[in-house]
Amino acid sequence: MADKILQVAHLEKYYQKRHVLYDINFSVDKGEVVTLLGPSGSGKSTLIRCLNGLEPYQNGTITFEEETVTPTEKNWQQIRQKIGMVFQSYDLFPNLTVIDNILLGPTKVQKQSKDAARAEAVKLLKRVGLEDYADSYPRMLSGGQKQRIAIVRALALHPDFMLFDEVTASLDPEMVRGVLNIIKDLANTDNMTMIVVTHEMNFAQEIADRVLFLENGKILEQTPSKQFFEKPQTDRAQEFLDSMD
Ligand code: ADP
Ligand code: MG
Repeated sequence: MADKILQVAHLEKYYQKRHVLYDINFSVDKGEVVTLLGPSGSGKSTLIRCLNGLEPYQNGTITFEEETVTPTEKNWQQIRQKIGMVFQSYDLFPNLTVIDNILLGPTKVQKQSKDAARAEAVKLLKRVGLEDYADSYPRMLSGGQKQRIAIVRALALHPDFMLFDEVTASLDPEMVRGVLNIIKDLANTDNMTMIVVTHEMNFAQEIADRVLFLENGKILEQTPSKQFFEKPQTDRAQEFLDSMD
């Protein structure tokens, strides 16, 4: 059997009295790419944030690399070092240069040696075509460039697992492809395990091994990607796909 990186069982999430995730069950194998699709407000971001300990959940368990997470902040800080996350907003530190943004986690949190971390950061910057921007400040970069830096910053921590939440949603159309190509390359070349929330259906179809379709806080289906995009199991998912054309 394939190695499971992540297992989620019976997860329930409330914001105060409002129930937003219902009995969420799924797992992700090592090297697998899962896309999380569903209408706006269905709970995709909330679920992603629960998986990274950024949102508390009220019931259920998350098991990461065979260990069931005891959801204390201290524990999550440890686990987060293995989980890279990139959001819609770039959230780079505006007062730090690109290279210092990237080096912060590896040197301050992971205590990697400065020289090794810097060499690795430069390598990653080259990989995304931004080696000339190491000493620039985030405000000097386009949205697409900032998002590529945010990906590099996550990768510099050598994550086992990546979470992407609509990373191209606030980009100008001409910037989108470059960012998606980096994610695709991570999946194909590095065999990175990832959960990707996206509204780019062509990209989802290209990259996903499996689709989780979420609506109103419930997983309506979990379907191999090819099958999902040809003919999903539920009418609701078909309507969703039709609305995305
Ligand atoms: P999606 O990412 O699929 O658009 P979200 O996870 O952002 O969905 O939202 C799921 C539901 O939870 C929505 O009804 C949203 O209004 C609600 N919600 C999201 N964040 C909060 C919050 N911080 N406080 C209260 N309700 C929230
Ligand atoms: Mg969202």
